[in-house]
Amino acid sequence: ESFDDMELKEELLRGIYGFGFEKPSAIQKRAIVPCTTGKDVIAQAQSGTGKTATFSVSILQRIDHEDPHVQALVMAPTRELAQQIQKVMSALGEYLNVNILPCIGGTSVRDDQRKLENGIHVVVGTPGRVGDMINRNALDTSRIKMFVLDEADEMLSRGFKDQIYDVFRSMPQDVQVVLLSATMPSEVLDVTDRFMRNPIRILV
Ligand code: AMP
Repeated sequence: ESFDDMELKEELLRGIYGFGFEKPSAIQKRAIVPCTTGKDVIAQAQSGTGKTATFSVSILQRIDHEDPHVQALVMAPTRELAQQIQKVMSALGEYLNVNILPCIGGTSVRDDQRKLENGIHVVVGTPGRVGDMINRNALDTSRIKMFVLDEADEMLSRGFKDQIYDVFRSMPQDVQVVLLSATMPSEVLDVTDRFMRNPIRILV
């Protein structure tokens, strides 16, 4: 199995190969097609497995770059991880004309608001800042089709439960949810039970 068999956009394949990936990793083989076809996916995966590229490729495949609305939201537990995800996604999407905004604490809310007004396709942020932007009506969630929670166990153990639940409640009813977590404690299972529909489970 190769990236060529996943029915990905030509420009996205160029970005993947240009980034230096030759073959998909185990999680990429199993999760990219379910994610690109709109399924809810629970992936139990550590870092180092290629999980970032798994959901980044899937988001880039699903984004319509001619639609200037936020169509995908990724939440991660730390600013550093959110920035790292944004860099990987931008590199993979080099040939796609996609605007990706990191939405993290410690930066200007006004700057983020202005950028959101000018057409952002994907937001990658931490729960605190993302929740804040939604509450200010700066981040319009009504056109989001894909919601990714990376390192869900870490986010919940850092006390972001209320923010995460609030973000879920602001999402469209039919939003696709992709959740990645190294471990599956009960707080994570509560989220999957409550907010996901017939998820595909992948353990790598
Ligand atoms: P992650 O699990 O997202 O932390 O990724 C771990 C590392 O694997 C990163 O340095 C990626 O650049 C690398 N990586 C991810 N997918 C592939 C792939 N298909 N081929 C080669 N390296 C990869």
